[in-house]
Amino acid sequence: MSTQENSGQSLFIKRLVANIECANCGTRYELGNISIAHHRDDLWIAFVVCVQCGTEGLIFAMVSEDGTPEVISRDASPEELREFEKLSTLGIDDVLDMHRFLEGYDGDLVSLLHEADAYEP
Ligand SMILES: [Zn+2]
Repeated sequence: MSTQENSGQSLFIKRLVANIECANCGTRYELGNISIAHHRDDLWIAFVVCVQCGTEGLIFAMVSEDGTPEVISRDASPEELREFEKLSTLGIDDVLDMHRFLEGYDGDLVSLLHEADAYEP
């Protein structure tokens, strides 16, 4: 899994997450136990492990355009974690590349198809 994120921004997210208390025992998460699992646009997903009780959880953080963060914490079930690991290894980067490609693509597919139609041999 590659995390080539802007380190400043991911640290910001980690600090946010570090203000959250473990749902199980109420201990705050520590920076060292928070890893950014996924980042796409304004959505960040952090994987956390509680130092006190070992509970694993996922934290969803949304950062709106004006910079206001909204953090949703939740426990992750073992099934979810497994799904999540599967997703990560499947290559979120590939999906992101496609996403970026489409975003950067200037023309639209409709005109592309019309152009193709217009070609008479
Ligand atoms: Zn805990």
